[in-house]
Amino acid sequence: MKVLQSWFSTLVYQSRLRKTGGTAFNRELLTECLQLRDFDDAGRRWSKKNYPGGYTSYGSLDKLHRFSSTFGELERDLGRHVRSFAKSLDWDLGGQRLVMTDCWVNIMPHHVAHSLHLHPNSVLSGTYYVATPRGCAGLKFEDPRISRFMAAPPRRANARPFNQMFVTYPARAGELILFESWLRHEVVANPVRSERISISFNYDWA
Ligand code: FE
Repeated sequence: MKVLQSWFSTLVYQSRLRKTGGTAFNRELLTECLQLRDFDDAGRRWSKKNYPGGYTSYGSLDKLHRFSSTFGELERDLGRHVRSFAKSLDWDLGGQRLVMTDCWVNIMPHHVAHSLHLHPNSVLSGTYYVATPRGCAGLKFEDPRISRFMAAPPRRANARPFNQMFVTYPARAGELILFESWLRHEVVANPVRSERISISFNYDWA
């Protein structure tokens, strides 16, 4: 008898933020994201050096959920998804709670990319999509075991999804993606002329 099982899963969560009323709320978030870029001189300076061609509030305003009621509302909505994802991961938080520690805006015009990275000192991270022009870049995840493969043969181009070394989730306005913070990911150069706008966040447990 042959037994073949898959072990050591890497879970990624994707969902619409809200079942209803999401479009109006997303419009509010979009307005605030654009206002932030106008107003955040320090962030634009930081982005020039660290996020060429784009704007991120990561280096200047990275606790937006504490300062804006709209982002506070987003935090409340995200909480439901975060708890559901933690449940799927079978996390034992020992009576502690998952707490949003950082929340920031990313605006990527044409050709702007965000190279492979992970989110240190957090347990769970994710992104909510605000503006996703047709054809814009998705969110690309890398197999976390990639550094261990050593002499392993490459995979066929048509390998089944669970054997692929990369997976790309499409970015869709009104939707969010959650993943464990150690999972490396990237956004390839935005191939379209319109701006791709997202809000990223980290959670810790405390
Ligand atoms: Fe990231």
